[in-house]
Amino acid sequence: METEAPVADRKNAPSLDTLFAQANGAIDAQTGAVVPPVQSATTFVRDELYQPISPNHVYSRDDNDLLRLTEEMLARAEHAEDGLLLPSGMAAVASVMRTVGNGGRIILQSGIYWGTTKFARDFCNRRGIDLIEVDCADIDALRDVAKPADILWIETPSNPYLKTVDIAACSKIARAIGAALVVDSTAATPVLSQPLDLGADIVMHSATKAINGHSDVLAGFLACARQESDLWQLMRADRHDAGAMIGSFEAWLLIRGMRTLPLRVERMSATALSIAQFLDSHPRVEKVLYPGLPDDPGHDVACRQMSGGYGSLLSFLVRGSREQALESVGKLKLFKRATSLGGVESLVEHRHTIEDTVPDTLLRLSVGIENPTNLIGDLEAALT
Ligand code: PLP
Repeated sequence: METEAPVADRKNAPSLDTLFAQANGAIDAQTGAVVPPVQSATTFVRDELYQPISPNHVYSRDDNDLLRLTEEMLARAEHAEDGLLLPSGMAAVASVMRTVGNGGRIILQSGIYWGTTKFARDFCNRRGIDLIEVDCADIDALRDVAKPADILWIETPSNPYLKTVDIAACSKIARAIGAALVVDSTAATPVLSQPLDLGADIVMHSATKAINGHSDVLAGFLACARQESDLWQLMRADRHDAGAMIGSFEAWLLIRGMRTLPLRVERMSATALSIAQFLDSHPRVEKVLYPGLPDDPGHDVACRQMSGGYGSLLSFLVRGSREQALESVGKLKLFKRATSLGGVESLVEHRHTIEDTVPDTLLRLSVGIENPTNLIGDLEAALT
């Protein structure tokens, strides 16, 4: 049986904000620099006996200190045994799905990030893989269609509908059908939720979003509960052999952004909740989709599986027509009209314009770190 650490040890154990602020304590061994240097070399010399001068420095596809540090920080945040950084969130999605062989089966949550759905549909079609799409926020609906599968893929909170999926309940179903449970936890961030603790096998992030937080790096991250599992070994080998590596400068930028991740997520989540409450009582708003609101269908589950906030992503339906929704978007001054989420700057997206299955009055907000009163004022002016 696991025993809790003595109180003194627990008090002294660095928490996530401390670890991240100090980049896991990374101090350059040669110079004492508190910021790790960017190593741009792709290859490293050997000695006269043809041995590497440094055993962990042969070729940068295998050996990149900044990549290792980024992976260690994120794996620690996710309570994972191991982590893998990839060049984008979609590269991470593809890396997981590519482990499914011809004739396999994937159960995929419906109504999630359209890029994941599109990749899964095209990939499964080419490989003769049975793809079952179901609203996994409805556990009974999932149970009804569940049958032996390779992967059960969920995204929580989902983008753009902010549905909350019960990770622990999905884990039980995944075990029963022999599937690996994969959780896209991008909107939750590693600060607010640790899906592996709830029974997920793999957690996935678009690190392009809050993990980086400054809208200047594309990256993806995968972490696992058991690094010896065949699935994880396959993905590790695939990244290496297929060469899907991220560059040193991108990893350096990620580490720089991650130093403030807990702080940013705390502020963004608190502001998002205030904005959701403001919109919820606004006469021009038909509905707010945000798990932090007590009457949201996913609120109870979100309270159980998230802590410290409900994230910076929220959507709402403007009362009226598509034109009225677009008119409001056009009036916003602080919320920039752009896609993506999780950055320090607030963004608004009329999702229907690029994804026509989304209601044409739905506006998706990514809440940044600006002054909350200013952001609410911007929305108030745009909705008059
Ligand atoms: N997963 C979610 C939930 C996303 O929102 C996105 C991008 O918006 C992705 C995955 C894909 O990530 P990337 O744009 O880094 O490839």
